[in-house]
Formats: sequence, C-alpha cells, structure tokens
Amino acid sequence: MIPFIDLNAQQTLISTDLNKAINKVLEHGQYIMGPEVGEFEQALNDFCSIENSISCANGTDALVLALMALGIGEGDAVFAPSFTFVATIEAIRLVNAIPVFIDVDKDTFNISTTSLEEAINYINESTVYKPKAIIPVDLFGQTADYIKLEELADFYKLFVISDAAQSFGAEFKGKKVGGFGTITTTSFFPAKPLGCYGDGGAVFTNDSELAEKVRSYRNHGQGQDRYDNVRVGLNSRLDTIQAAILLEKLKIFPSEIASRNIIAQNYTKHLPENLNAQSVINEAKSVWAQYTVVSESRDLIREHLQHNKIPTAVYYPRPNHLQVPYEKFPVSPNGLKVTEYLQERVFSLPMHPYIDENTQDMILTALSGFK
Ligand SMILES: *Cc1c(COP(=O)(O)O)cnc(C)c1O
Repeated sequence: MIPFIDLNAQQTLISTDLNKAINKVLEHGQYIMGPEVGEFEQALNDFCSIENSISCANGTDALVLALMALGIGEGDAVFAPSFTFVATIEAIRLVNAIPVFIDVDKDTFNISTTSLEEAINYINESTVYKPKAIIPVDLFGQTADYIKLEELADFYKLFVISDAAQSFGAEFKGKKVGGFGTITTTSFFPAKPLGCYGDGGAVFTNDSELAEKVRSYRNHGQGQDRYDNVRVGLNSRLDTIQAAILLEKLKIFPSEIASRNIIAQNYTKHLPENLNAQSVINEAKSVWAQYTVVSESRDLIREHLQHNKIPTAVYYPRPNHLQVPYEKFPVSPNGLKVTEYLQERVFSLPMHPYIDENTQDMILTALSGFK
C-alpha cells in the first residue's frame, strides 16, 4: 500500500536541522513560551504579510479564541458550511453561539454565497438570533471567495472568521491566507499542509486590539502580568518544541506547496472523464490539503483502487447538520442540497509533496483502469 500522506519523506529530508532545533529547546529548557514561540510568530508575520500572528494549542482553540476575542456568545448566530470538519461547528457551540448551516458550491465545495445570503435574511427576519459572523472554511486547501464574502459581510455588518485550518500557505488574488476577513485561524495538526509533531494552531489579524485580546485569552486571560487576570481565558499556548519544529518546516514549505501544485496539475490533466476534481477559482492558488474528486460510483472505484494498493479517504461522509449535537440548529432556507449530494460522492486521492512520478502514474493508471 502506498501512503495516503507521507510524513517520513519530509522528516528524512530535514532531520539534521530538526534534531538540532529540538535539542536546542532541550538545552535551554523553556518548554512553555520559550524564545522559539516568538521567533515562529515573527516568521508567520513575514510569511503571511500580516501584522499579528498569535500561536496557540490547536486549530479548534484558534477558532474559539477568535470567537471569544470578537465577543461572540449566547444568542449570536454564526453562519458556517455544514460540509467541513466538525471543529468549525464545535467552536461555535463552545462559546454558546448558534451555528446556522449554509450549503456549499458544487464546483469549489466552499461556502455558497447565495445560500449564505438567504440564511442571513432568514435569521434577520426571524429576530430570534442576532447575526454576528460568517465562518467560511477554505476546504481542502483552497480559499473561499473572499471578495464576495467581504462584500456581504460589509453590507450585513458581520465579522468574517476565516477557518484556514486546511489552507495555510494558499493565496487568492495575490494575497496570502491570514489576511482575509476580520480574523483568520489555522491548524498545525500533523496532517495539515504545514504540520508539527503534535497539536498546534495560530490566529492572524491586522487588528492589533483584537490581537491583544487573543494573546490574553490564550494565556488564562492575562492582563499586565502573569498574576493579573482580566478575562476568563484558556490555557492554549503552542509548545516551544512544536514552534522549533515548525520554524524548520516553514523553511521548506514554499517548495512543498509548489510540489503539491505540480502533483495536483498532473492528476487533473490525466483524470478520467467520469471523475470531476474540486475546481480552483480564478486567481486562487490552493495548497491541496486534499485532492478531492466527485464520482457517481464512489464505493466501487474506491474498492478498485484499494485492490490496486491505493488508499483513498472520504471527507466528509456525514456533514455536521446531520450529527447528533448539531442537528437541531437552523439550516439555510433552501436546504443543503449540494452538501448532501457531495457527501455521497466525494473521495480524496493520496496527496503530499513527495509523491514521485512513478507513484503518480500508478495512481492515474489505476483510475483509468476502472470501467
Ligand atoms: C483540522 C481542522 C480544524 C481543527 O484543527 P485542530 O488543530 O485539529 O484542532 C478546524 N477546522 C478545519 C476545517 C479543519 O480541517
């Protein structure tokens, strides 16, 4: 079986530098908020061309911290796609706000602005909940259409919290992920495009007041000093060792993004006619967290690939509005037809920056061999 995601190839490539970086942390012993944390945040600012990067414990906390810093809570409606990893929706409930489920676009799999606007009007008219924010998700590594989303957000006076857990490093119209919306969150879970060796996450914003609040919330609501606590916060710091690892990985990340794009282009070029890949919008550059296709005979083709020693995965077989803790929350008035269509038909092919040409050929040959 070839690997679905291969973390060893990358590790072998930079093992000397990784070991040096980890050993340095073991020597200075500042495991919490050691110097590498600040260095990594500075490196993130430079990479994303953003003013404030705040590292934290994971991508779920990053969303919770963003919601807390924006003062979102009880009675507030937050619009988000149902077709996403559960954490997007879970974070909304963790601050006691109300998720409102939005459908996705059938080509990009990202939030549908039509379904979104219908839901905003519906919530506005019902006056039960107060519309506060949109959480667009950059699914599988491609940014949502932030031009349209920011227009809608301005018009309806909503915050945009960009869930970029899968799209760190992606671009849209020449702007890097981190700079879209009011605030952006990401994850450094090992299988994400930029992953550490454990849990990690970050929040990005150009609003320095908001950044100060996130910094405080991630460290027990700290005020002027360690024993001054001005709000109820979390313990959600990024471990120094993870920051040290991420600093090394960030150095080779641009070349990894380039490799992911070469592989995705090769897949797309040779994809059989009965499969449609996620389409990339104009002027967007995906980081291909997943390479996902739509098939009318998903189970059979996955079985055929498995038989040819090619692993696949399904993201997501059950959208969030159909999950027990979230099934009672409002859904956009015209339903989630595309979400329910995709849930039955999508699957993802192996994707990581180190898939060699032979392996790509093997995958494409197996795909074409399915009749
Ligand atoms: C992975 C992921 C998260 C959560 O990140 P963790 O670091 O695992 O907590 C949030 N949103 C999306 C879309 C994700 O894919």
